[in-house]
Amino acid sequence: MRRSLHFDEAAGGAAEALGGPSAADPEELISRVRADRVEFVNLQFTDVLGAIKGVTIPAAGLGEALARGVWFDGSSVEGFARIHESDMVLRPDPGTYRVLPWGAPERRQARLICDVQTPDQRPFPGDPRGVLRRAMARAEAQGHTYNAGPELEFFLFKRNADARDGRAPLRPVPHDVGGYFDFSPQDLASTVRADIMRALAELGITAETAHHEVATAQHEIDFRYCDGLTAADNVMTVRQAVKAVAAEHDLYATFMPKPICGANGSGMHTHQSFFDRGGRNAFFDAAGRYELSDLARHYIAGQLAHAPALSAVLAPTVNSYKRLVPGYEAPVYICWARTNRSALIRVPCTSPGREQSARAELRCPDPSANPYLAFAVMLAAGLDGIERRLAPPEPVEEDVYHFDARRLEEMGIASLPGTLAEALDALEKDEVVRSALGDLAYQAFARAKRAEWDEYRIQVSDWELERYLETL
Ligand code: GLU
Ligand code: MG
Repeated sequence: MRRSLHFDEAAGGAAEALGGPSAADPEELISRVRADRVEFVNLQFTDVLGAIKGVTIPAAGLGEALARGVWFDGSSVEGFARIHESDMVLRPDPGTYRVLPWGAPERRQARLICDVQTPDQRPFPGDPRGVLRRAMARAEAQGHTYNAGPELEFFLFKRNADARDGRAPLRPVPHDVGGYFDFSPQDLASTVRADIMRALAELGITAETAHHEVATAQHEIDFRYCDGLTAADNVMTVRQAVKAVAAEHDLYATFMPKPICGANGSGMHTHQSFFDRGGRNAFFDAAGRYELSDLARHYIAGQLAHAPALSAVLAPTVNSYKRLVPGYEAPVYICWARTNRSALIRVPCTSPGREQSARAELRCPDPSANPYLAFAVMLAAGLDGIERRLAPPEPVEEDVYHFDARRLEEMGIASLPGTLAEALDALEKDEVVRSALGDLAYQAFARAKRAEWDEYRIQVSDWELERYLETL
């Protein structure tokens, strides 16, 4: 049954009127919350695994929360404090105020994204948002703002009838029969996508494009690139909005990287560039190959050099490695190119005169990643390339999927890790990527992910039963 999202017609449904990105001053924010008739405010943050956490406060308590922060027990949050130092403080970031365009209008809720501090008011080193802030501050110190433009792919599924009452596990049941860029006004998916874009606009995010992706029931939403921190906040918001809107249509959305064997998986390709203090794109050089500057080339070389360790953070689930296989437009081999979609890094073509859009697109991230940690390690790997002035290898424009092992070896092309366990081994050995996470976030991440792998490793799958049970 579809319940409609509520839009504030009186305010024209405009993001600015409903707490758009400009509400940065605490006084102004409090009056805006009043004007928006918000009753509750969710104070959100993200744990190491990329799950949204939070506490809800009545709107009347916001002044206090902004002045003093909100204390919470961090010991029960994945990757946060140890028991004896469990108190943490949430510091709402006033610029992230948004009224949530779903839920009951009579209990209108807003959200604020928070930074996490220790009781002595220092940034908590295990806070993923803080990890990204640290990495971005390094780039800022060198005069560069890090920009990220992620492309989120996801599937919309119907709930199988027997899963509704718990008689069977949930299975991926496609709701449509569309393919890449298919568009039919009767198609439920195009209505869902339009509702997602509308909800995102209310949340202050302009979705630039939304389209059907290659696989049945697969879709993509792209929003405009922006600074890395805002982009990571936006990824969390988009994931929330897509799920909420899908539920309004009696569907569910999944960001699981590879829900269907034999079909394309879902990626979160991320376009990246650096702007200098004058707002000029430092990745652009009209005279460079693919119109890239030396800085961009070093950056790309850094990401190629650290690709195995990066994978653990960018493709962080057991299932992520079912996506990173030949034949489905996801990368497998560590190389770069202009148009080749099988390469790990692509340099998209830009129209003449569009120097601001010169960029490098990293294709291994998937939407199960924690975007704060993901952008932080991507940036750190690129900065390492810049600091060491690494040169990238020759680009590979052929489809690498068809290369045999000998050809790959001759050309010196290595593969991404084949499993989460291999990726975690690479991460353990990579000082640059580890130190970008910091000890606390690294330890928490590695512990949780090793446990995930160990649990998976001992499962007996349907595939094994079908293959071996009778034949052996
Ligand atoms: N779905 C593909 C992936 O897993 C990418 C398709 C595309 O190029 O947009 O990365
Ligand atoms: Mg895509």
